Amino acid sequence: MARLTDVNALPSILAMDALTVLEGDRRGASLQLTDRYFRLQAAALQGMDGSEFFENRLDIVRESRDVWDEIYVDFPSLTTEHLRTASERLRNVLERLPEVQYLRRNYPATSYVVPEWMRLDGEVKYGARVYFFGDDPPEREEIVARNVEATVDDARGDFDAYQGRLHGYPDCCIEFFREGDRFDGEESLEARSLGAFDDAIDEERLREGSVATAPIGELLDGFFESPQAYAFFAHEFYPEPGCETARKRGEAIHDTLTEHLPEPLVRDYFRVNFGWSLLKAGVVTGPDAFGREHLLSQLPLQVRSSMSRYER
Ligand SMILES: [Zn+2]
Repeated sequence: MARLTDVNALPSILAMDALTVLEGDRRGASLQLTDRYFRLQAAALQGMDGSEFFENRLDIVRESRDVWDEIYVDFPSLTTEHLRTASERLRNVLERLPEVQYLRRNYPATSYVVPEWMRLDGEVKYGARVYFFGDDPPEREEIVARNVEATVDDARGDFDAYQGRLHGYPDCCIEFFREGDRFDGEESLEARSLGAFDDAIDEERLREGSVATAPIGELLDGFFESPQAYAFFAHEFYPEPGCETARKRGEAIHDTLTEHLPEPLVRDYFRVNFGWSLLKAGVVTGPDAFGREHLLSQLPLQVRSSMSRYER
């Protein structure tokens, strides 16, 4: 059985993802490095008491952000060979980011950073993702090779499906997203995945613009009245609407997490996952965070779980 101390230093939302991986509920989890990630980390840490612990953590985030902002990747033309070479160069830079080193150092099993390519609006963009695996890690080179191939062939769906399997998402949900028309009229599949919860969202708060700071329990009042709330068992996972498999998987993950952590914290984890999906899908636009707890979930788990609301 995994121990809480195995993941205590990781940002709490990631720590909870990682815990379910170590417990065998999922094959893997990941964290996408983005401008927003660094902004959220800095905002959460700046809101703390300025003690040495938080200052050190903040230095890591700031230093990483500085390097991150300077990264520039170029390749002569879109071929497999050129993208692979560019991936190697980018990986070398990413591995030197203090944040990547911090995350890997504070995870007891296989973790590595992988450059990620995607076609957006006719352009090839790059990003980065740090993976966390349990007993059955794939070779890092395999992830890169599949991503490069999908980018060159313009077959993003193939890579999305592969990545979904790496994260232990149910096959039915993966297939739903792969085969469905991405847009049905105005609504994307992601938005449809979230749409069943229209009633659970406090529209007034959204209009007031206090989304980033309001308690998430108030923003998502009534969320747990639907059993489908449990389908949001991972950061960045969009379940197929009404999916029974996703709900059951989520209930098992809920049980795993509550063996280690207080129930209110675990419930906030599901709410934050859902809120994050709203932001990522563009259903809610503007703020970096969805609810105060989303910001707080950027803090290391050991800090987060000792906040008075959550102490057992
Ligand atoms: Zn499903």
